[in-house]
Parts: sequence; structure tokens; C-alpha cells
Amino acid sequence: MNGTDVRVRFAPSPTGYLHVGGARTAIFNWLFARHHKGAFILRIEDTDVERSTVESEVALIDDLRWLGLDWDEGPGVGGSGSDSVGVGAGGSGSDGDCGPYRQSERLDIYNEHAARLVAEGRAFPCFCTDEVVSAKREVAMAAGKPPQYDGTCRSLSSDEIAARRAEGIPEVVRFIIPSGDVRFADLIRGDIKLESNMVGDFVIVRSNGIPTYNFAAAIDDHLMRITHVLRGEEHLPNTLRQILIYQAFGFDVPQFGHLSLILAEDKSKLSKRHGATSVEELRVSGYLPGAVLNYLVLLGWSHPEEKEVLSIEELTAAYSLDRVSKSPSVYDREKLKWMNGQYIRATDVETLFDVADPFFPDYVRDSYDRVGRVKILELLHEKIDTLAELYDKSSPFRSPPVYDDEALEILDMPEAKAALKALADALSASTEEFTGQLFKSLVKQAGKETGQKGKALFFPVRAALTGSVHGPDLAGVAELKGKDEVMRMLVGGA
Ligand code: GLU
Repeated sequence: MNGTDVRVRFAPSPTGYLHVGGARTAIFNWLFARHHKGAFILRIEDTDVERSTVESEVALIDDLRWLGLDWDEGPGVGGSGSDSVGVGAGGSGSDGDCGPYRQSERLDIYNEHAARLVAEGRAFPCFCTDEVVSAKREVAMAAGKPPQYDGTCRSLSSDEIAARRAEGIPEVVRFIIPSGDVRFADLIRGDIKLESNMVGDFVIVRSNGIPTYNFAAAIDDHLMRITHVLRGEEHLPNTLRQILIYQAFGFDVPQFGHLSLILAEDKSKLSKRHGATSVEELRVSGYLPGAVLNYLVLLGWSHPEEKEVLSIEELTAAYSLDRVSKSPSVYDREKLKWMNGQYIRATDVETLFDVADPFFPDYVRDSYDRVGRVKILELLHEKIDTLAELYDKSSPFRSPPVYDDEALEILDMPEAKAALKALADALSASTEEFTGQLFKSLVKQAGKETGQKGKALFFPVRAALTGSVHGPDLAGVAELKGKDEVMRMLVGGA
């Protein structure tokens, strides 16, 4: 394959959030393009006027960018390099070679192509109303026949057409299904045979002049010189229709690769009830983009050495379609979390801080400046798998602490009171600068004086300072709280 010839696309419909399935499709296309030094194109399929919104387009673009994807051509991106996005229909004058990249801005192109098919006898105007078509479909089904369009308007004469138009009957354009099967070598699933009689003459242009998805996508994939179409296997029936359209025009058919389904852990189709399945939800739950991308790549692709945590450079270098699996993959949230933990720990704290800071509870932000919060992150980042966990894990820094039952029980014991008193005395006698190191040695000293060590010494101290016997490095916590605060807690807890 000549790499520079590779042109792939991600073609979302802006009708809602970007979900993990769509994100995986985008990532696979992007990696394929980057691996082959080809072009990745973003096309907005907004022909469903009722459901498409500019807000969804903006959100989709934000999500793709958040994941770290970039595109060579797309709304506002291309030849002249403008960066405007989400400007809505008619707003882009700066597209790449094959623009515009919003289908709503390409209606003339589809209508010209539809007219060409009609002129060649490969499509026809149809005046059957939706009600009539569905009634006939039901009758056919009841009789055990395929529920396909029955061809009523297939061979209307030009006079009959003119008469219906004169009556003002709304018309659609239907594509004539040729006989014979469609065969192609799927890049992932191997040889595929689809029977043309699985579909009837389908609508390519609706009565409002807007094309249907299958028509617009085929025309665009051709005009945008798409070489490989990688998308979910649920599109296989669409692939049949689209190949028939390419063939009707005599266009070269691109290569197809159909990605297997992503299932939930219970092996049912992944849906909203399985928790955070949109990129947006993952972002607000404190997942890092690199981790999400890395995890999603593993849903159906594996590294030749079975490595799992991979940088974007490693992924780009190793990505190939022959390691994409035919079997469904399972969206394993625990594994995603684990992956995120790996990324959190691999990111230096200063860099992590910018994305982590909004996840701290207000009491942390109110009591600690940036330097303090960076230190808190330093103490906690080994202990979290998502940034959202910072919210609960910050509790040791709350002032005054909220004591849990275990802490209260320990603090009530006479030995605990003795240890805390000894530590408080040592602390007030000390004149050295208060640091975590000093705190540690004072705790040791208190232990010697009271004859307590191990849990019997550390649990009460930790409980008094933080309200719990579990938490991050205690010396670090004490240093951040400062001498006065530590003193108050020791006296209060003793
Ligand atoms: N707009 C379609 C979708 O979002 C695109 C499918 C395709 O990749 O052709 O499902």
C-alpha cells in the first residue's frame, strides 16, 4: 500500500454525545491514517435535520480534540488551515481539498448525483406516501413475504410523473436495486457476500430534498477520495447499499473494514445503563485522555507483543488492521480504571495538577494555595485511579477532620490519649522549624516515652490528625497542616 494514498474518515452524526464505540472508530481510523502517513478526514453527517444540532457538533469536536485526535480535513480545517469549528451550516469558507465537510452544505452535490441516476434509469421519483408504503410492508410481512418496496412507481411514464407533480404530491427518489450479490474482501472479517435482495428500492433523496445517509455517505466517500472505510459492524447492511451506489455510478469501491461490537461485561450490547459510556462522562469522572485512548485501542486491537500501556507513538508505529479482532470486545470498566491509574502515576504532578485541580473539594481549595494543593496531589496521586477519587481521598486535609467510627473508637482508648498527649508535649517543647521530618521524630520520641509503637502509636496520631486510620503519608499531611493545626488536633483528639 502506498501510504500517502491512504485517506480515511470519521463521519459522526451530530445527534448526541460521542460514545465509546464512536470514539473507538475515530481512533482506529486516526491511527490507521497516522501509521500510513495518510489523511484523516472529519465529516459531519448532519442530514438528519431534526436530530442534528450545532451543540452536538461542537461537543463531538471537543471530545475528539480532548482525546488528542487531529484531522487533516474537516469543518474549518484543510487547505487554508483555518481552525474555526462548529460554526453551523454555511459557515466555513476555509475547507480542505474536498470540502465542504458538513453534509448539510453539500445538498446540491447530492441532488446533482441523484438526478444523474434518474436520468440513467437507475433511480426514479416515487410518489407513494409513507402511510401507503408502511401499509404495504405490513401486508407483505403478514403474507410471509419480504417487506420491501413493491415497485409501484418504478416504471411511471413521464406523463404520469408530470401529472403527480402537477397535483403537488410529495416525491422522493428511490434507487433501483440491481439483481445479483455483492461480494467484497472485508479488511477485518475476510470475504463477505451480501445478497442484494436483502433490500428493496431504497430512498436516496427524501421529499424535503435532503439525501439519506447511505446516498450522501457513498457520494462523499467517493468525492473525498476515501480509500478505506473503517466502521462498526452494525453498518454492514449499509455497506451493501453503498456498494450498489458506487457501482451504479461506476465509482471505485473503497476497501471496507467492519469493527466488531463492543459489549458490556454482562455480554449485552453496551448502553447507557452500563455507566459512563460517553467520552464526556469519562472526562468529568477524572479519566485522562491518553488512558481512554489507550484503553479504547485495546477494544479489538492488540499489540504484537501484547503490551497494553502504550504511548501514542508506540500505538501509531504498531497499529495495523491485521491485529484487529473479528470477535466482540468487552468494555471492562475496571481495566479502564486500572489503565487510568497507570497514566495518572506516569504523569508528573505539576502537569497533572492542571487537570486535577478542579476535582479537589472546596475545603481543599479554601485552605490551601496552589503550592499546597500540588503537595496534596503529590501525596495522593499514588492512591487514585481517577481524578474524581481526589474528592474523597482529600478528607485527611479537611479541617477540622470528620472522624469515622474506627477513628473515634481508637481515640477513646486511654493508650491513645497518652500517646497524643506525649506528642503534643514534645511538639510544644520543640523550637525547631516544623517539617514532616521533625514530626516523624517527635512521634518516635512520644512512642519511646509512652512505650507504644507500631499501630498503637500511629493509628491514634493519624486518627487525631485526619479523622481516619487510613490515608496518605502522615508526615506529609502533618507538614501541610502546619504546627498550629497539628497541635489543635492533638489536643482536641486527646
Ligand atoms: N453518520 C454515520 C454514523 O454516525 C456514519 C457511519 C459511517 O461511518 O459511514 O453512524
